[in-house]
Amino acid sequence: MTTELQQRTIQLGPTTITAIVDVTTPWPMLPVSDAIWNKVRAAYPSSFYNAETLLGRVHCYLIQQASRTILVDTGLGKAPPPTPALSSQQLEAQLSLMGIDATAIDTVFLTHLHVDHVGLNTHYVDDKLQARFPNARYLAHKAEQGLIEFMQTHTPERAGYLQDQVLWLNEQGYLDFFEADFELTEGITTWFTPGHSPGHTGLLIDHGTGERVLIAGDIFFNPIQMFHPSFATGLDVDKEQAHATRLAVLQQVSDGKTLVAACHFPTPSFGYVVPDGDAYRWQPIAED
Ligand SMILES: [Zn+2]
Repeated sequence: MTTELQQRTIQLGPTTITAIVDVTTPWPMLPVSDAIWNKVRAAYPSSFYNAETLLGRVHCYLIQQASRTILVDTGLGKAPPPTPALSSQQLEAQLSLMGIDATAIDTVFLTHLHVDHVGLNTHYVDDKLQARFPNARYLAHKAEQGLIEFMQTHTPERAGYLQDQVLWLNEQGYLDFFEADFELTEGITTWFTPGHSPGHTGLLIDHGTGERVLIAGDIFFNPIQMFHPSFATGLDVDKEQAHATRLAVLQQVSDGKTLVAACHFPTPSFGYVVPDGDAYRWQPIAED
């Protein structure tokens, strides 16, 4: 397990946003032509593990204000098959390196309930399941209940994981399902962005300074979707809706003033969406 800090921090007004690397792992290529991959490879070499394999990442985000400590997503955890053996999650170690105690997290905001976003919601202590962030309210969009049903039907092998990481929290009263966009805290509002999952929701941070930050979850999975917004991964539950959401979000964040945090993009996962011909391109901020 690494002991290096794998983080990048952005300051926006009174809000500090830290991208935390949870997992870095080889990831299967997506089904598009070599010509498209060559274009992506030329523009984003750090998206690739080798010629035949992408480099997958999972980022979580810590949002801090004077009186708030909000964790966005809890990474992969020990997700069961068919998820490949990716269980080298670093979130816990990275929070520790930052000096963040689990009890200091007041909110866990879940962009959606796929396994790579809920993995550290709970943990076992002496064989007893407990909330990993015991003082936090866990939040997810109500429509994610549709994803729970979808996963129970399509990936029954993950039922136990779902039970431990999501349903148990609900049964124990830690999890709140919200039904409409709302202000989470000063200058931070939810942004309902369905398609990847029924209740997928991002966070928009805007303090009226002219600059904004979007925590985009999985609206975008790979920078290829800037060139080709219609490209859907097998993980998009509703591909048409995901495409419509991507187009709408791309249009709204390509203003040169909105920094986007894309969970699975190359580290540090922050960048700008730049209009480019009929579509867009991803302009990552420099790595430290
Ligand atoms: Zn994901």
